[in-house]
Amino acid sequence: MTFMNMGLEPELVVAISRLGFETPTPVQAQVIPRLLDNKGDVVALAQTGTGKTAAFGLPILTMLDRENRAPQALVLCPTRELCVQITRDMEAYAACSPGVSILAVYGGTPIEAQLRALKRGVHVIVGTPGRMLDIMRRRRVNLDGVERVILDEADEMLNMGFQEDLEAILAGVPDSAHTLLFSATMPRQVASMAKKYMHEAEEITVGQRNAGAANVRHDCYVVHQRDRYRTLKRIADYYPDMYAIVFCRTRQDTQGIADWLIRDGYNADSLHGDLTQVQRDRVMDKFRSRNLQILVATDVAARGLDVNDLTHVINFNLPDDLNSYTHRSGRTGRAGKSGISVVIVNMREKGRVQRIQRMIGSKFEFRKVPNGRQVCEAQLLSMIERMRGVEVDHEQIDVFLPAINRALEGMEQDEIVKRFVALEFNTLLKYYRDTGDLATSTPAPRSGKAAKPSPTPRPAPAPMAPREQTATAKAPAAPEPAPAPAPPRPREVRMFINIGQLDGINPKKLSDMINRECNREVPVRKIDIMRRYSFFEIAGEDADPLTIILCKARFAGRDVRVEPVNDELKSKRIKRTERRIKAKGGKPGPRKPRKLGKAGKRKPTKGKPSRAQRREQR
Ligand code: AMP
Repeated sequence: MTFMNMGLEPELVVAISRLGFETPTPVQAQVIPRLLDNKGDVVALAQTGTGKTAAFGLPILTMLDRENRAPQALVLCPTRELCVQITRDMEAYAACSPGVSILAVYGGTPIEAQLRALKRGVHVIVGTPGRMLDIMRRRRVNLDGVERVILDEADEMLNMGFQEDLEAILAGVPDSAHTLLFSATMPRQVASMAKKYMHEAEEITVGQRNAGAANVRHDCYVVHQRDRYRTLKRIADYYPDMYAIVFCRTRQDTQGIADWLIRDGYNADSLHGDLTQVQRDRVMDKFRSRNLQILVATDVAARGLDVNDLTHVINFNLPDDLNSYTHRSGRTGRAGKSGISVVIVNMREKGRVQRIQRMIGSKFEFRKVPNGRQVCEAQLLSMIERMRGVEVDHEQIDVFLPAINRALEGMEQDEIVKRFVALEFNTLLKYYRDTGDLATSTPAPRSGKAAKPSPTPRPAPAPMAPREQTATAKAPAAPEPAPAPAPPRPREVRMFINIGQLDGINPKKLSDMINRECNREVPVRKIDIMRRYSFFEIAGEDADPLTIILCKARFAGRDVRVEPVNDELKSKRIKRTERRIKAKGGKPGPRKPRKLGKAGKRKPTKGKPSRAQRREQR
């Protein structure tokens, strides 16, 4: 089947062939003839990225009465971004069809311009439910001429709580209008909506129900909770050409993980609902143009992001609603490309992974987190790949060759290769040389015993090519300066914090404060609360950032100070306290009685207010 013999308007076929559409995708092959036949309602179960927009857009545009500038089709979708995307796509299909007017209406921007455009007359409205209903309630749109209603990503619209809005909108559309509902999954809510508002809808399934895209590989890494972030970094290091979305459950997690990745030298940024629309647009533009390699996002915020060539989708946390996994993984492996959907889970989440397997009808490949050697090899091979693809400007370079050859005289070819590799990779090799496996089966070494360095230096990433550049035309961007090697850090680090019982802290409050300040769940162990200060243990790689983040925090009106307790840094007081804890079998016991003043308070040193007095004064 070709687009030519489907009965589409010839101008549309010309426009889409310029976009590179040669043959219809499966969803287009099934949906376009049905819509052109104009027979009845359709429920289409199809993933994102399967060509849905053209599947409904091309028949809608073919059947428009262009003389009549009144809305004839209404497309509803969950987010502003998707709304803009659909409008842009449909405008591109109509590029050779003059006089077609398609309007996007969505919230978060002033309504007046949209109302004025409606007044001038439009053929197709693409809207988000909230804004569409707002316009209908203001009686600023007449939907009497609407013949087709498209509910795109219906499951997402219902997930986002748009049920009532959708029902109100559908009630305002003529009964004679045909409805086409697209959904990646078929939860009960969608089925009952289809039953209530659609007339004997024909169901089309493209691929399996709830199934992920066929060309997506599903990888699963089972790790200790505390290794989740380190695993993410290893995966990012192992795939240096990664172009990925990392999904987190909450806005706080999203921001936290993005901040940590940025701090660790990755080309990452965040996308979530706490950002303003301008910030979100900026991040999405950066990501679309491939000036950003890793986007950390919530499900909702990433919804409208139309990017086809993602290499990876990473589930840093599994979604609360497992159906969302299909949406997430459907963001890779689009438009005929292949992709990898990764889940990072802890031991307790294995059951949820099984449920996802049943849901998507394909198996996860359970993988070991790449070790240092594997990461180094992958990075080296990627560099060689880039070296092979780089364009050599002979005219410019040849003039230097005699001098270069003279300088290299007497060196074997092997030696030259090794030295160039060392130049680029010494830091990485050194860093990964002593890094342990993040295996789930081997218990983590106790603090102090293991002296394995933990990640901080980041290998220079592969330069990102602008989207339109081909692999061979990649700009040989200057590699990032290699970061200085980090001092070796144990896997677990004992930390001191200057907050204790007197400040009203307890283990829960301490752990809550750390999570709150870091915007993510930081595993905190072995908490010992003393009268004036406390100790706790965290993963080695968390020690530096925590020290930086917490030094800006306040607790009970006091500035917080945190520092790692290691022998060099340890003050006499900390050492004494630690010895006392050890002597009491690990439990902080009562202190030696102190000299007390009359009022039961510590005796002040002459001329100087006591610490307790200073604290009260604060
Ligand atoms: P959609 O599911 O509509 O978001 O489409 C996903 C991507 O596939 C978009 O970038 C489209 O431009 C592209 N696409 C849609 N249909 C075709 C086709 N028949 N041939 C090639 N690419 C297509």
